[in-house]
Amino acid sequence: MTAEAPASYVDDLQAYRDGLRRHLESTPELDQFRRRDHLGTEDRIARDARLMAMLAANGGWNLFGWPDKVGGRGGDERHRGVLYDELSSAGLPVPEPQLLLETLCPAVTRFSPHLAERHAPAFLRGEEWWGQCFSEPEAGSDLASLRTRARREGDNYVISGQKLWTSHGATATRLVCLVRTGTPESRHRGLSMIMLDVDSPGVTVRPIALASGDNELAEVYFDDVVVPADQLVGSENQGWSVAMFLLQYERAMYAWQSAAVALRRVTELRDLVAGQSGGLPDGAVRRLGACYLDIVTLRARSSETVRRLAAGETVGPEASVDKVLLAAAEQGLHDLARDLLGSDFLLSVSPRLQAWRAEWWYSRSATILGGSAEVQRTILADHILGLPKEKA
Ligand SMILES: Cc1cc2nc3c(=O)[nH]c(=O)nc-3n(C[C@H](O)[C@H](O)[C@H](O)COP(=O)(O)OP(=O)(O)OC[C@H]3O[C@@H](n4cnc5c(N)ncnc54)[C@H](O)[C@@H]3O)c2cc1C
Repeated sequence: MTAEAPASYVDDLQAYRDGLRRHLESTPELDQFRRRDHLGTEDRIARDARLMAMLAANGGWNLFGWPDKVGGRGGDERHRGVLYDELSSAGLPVPEPQLLLETLCPAVTRFSPHLAERHAPAFLRGEEWWGQCFSEPEAGSDLASLRTRARREGDNYVISGQKLWTSHGATATRLVCLVRTGTPESRHRGLSMIMLDVDSPGVTVRPIALASGDNELAEVYFDDVVVPADQLVGSENQGWSVAMFLLQYERAMYAWQSAAVALRRVTELRDLVAGQSGGLPDGAVRRLGACYLDIVTLRARSSETVRRLAAGETVGPEASVDKVLLAAAEQGLHDLARDLLGSDFLLSVSPRLQAWRAEWWYSRSATILGGSAEVQRTILADHILGLPKEKA
């Protein structure tokens, strides 16, 4: 058991970074997480949750950046940014549940602190993780048309409908769902956010097998699921505001996490390619350089966004810039790996190459998840540049 990381790190980000780096370098128990075995979704999430639990139990390192009331140790988004940076540069995974933690926890903390106080401490410590149920078969980009319904009955809501593409849905213990509490015509004005336990009677989760072989996503069915009304995140029909607050975190903090991982991966790719028989393929140097620049550009942009979130500013639609840069950097890196690793990329059964292959598949979704690239560009055109609507 290591000593608790000092509380003074809340006010001294550089000391937190230095202390965390020393801890990650000098803790042999963490070596098990550095292995590059290729794991399926459930095993990967379970491994990452164990890493979160170990960091929390041995020093409380991953609890900085979250308020005391939700089980954190204080600090802000910049502490979380430092955590992702240092984990990645130490050759450790950025735990996958942290993406959903970044997506859901700030909104739950802001709009329903009682729920965050009740449930977030277990999430921070890797004891449970949550899923985000927004998308439906007929409502992805156009979320305001969603149809999963919650009707009020006494002290409860009763939910019926179907959600689709729920990340980590197959193993999450809690779901944060956007549901319709108003009339179908009410569009975004008639939506509410509600948190529920996956093991509530009437919830059915069906994993979706992806082309990569993983079942990272799930369909979730709600058949008259009874949820106590105090599980609302925000108030009834405030769901759209909660979702907009949440999406800026999903887009911005995911961008930072991805850049932290990509910076390590591009150097690993360089080493892998340089070690191939015959040396670097033609054009490799130029393409590696261009890829590195894309990642550094994303990081430069993202650092400003993270600082703004930490200062309590609303980033709002500007987070779409981060999301567009993230998708370009992520897909560029993995396309480069595919091109430079040649037939090894397609055929090798080594865990390292399998991991590149699986990540390439996942990178295809970078222009879809969290809002498609086309929709992000439309948001920028409408809300940031104020351009006139194009004629159909
Ligand atoms: C890996 C992955 C993880 C995901 N995780 C989650 C999750 O955890 N929770 C969740 O709720 N959802 C999740 N999603 C779903 C994701 O948010 C949606 O797929 C996305 O918002 C697009 O919605 P859709 O799939 O319904 O496509 P559609 O909205 O049907 O779009 C289809 C195509 O039309 C384009 N299009 C649509 N509207 C416009 C427009 N107005 N202007 C220009 N082009 C447009 C889109 O860009 C896209 O190319 C995930 C998706 C993926 C791939």
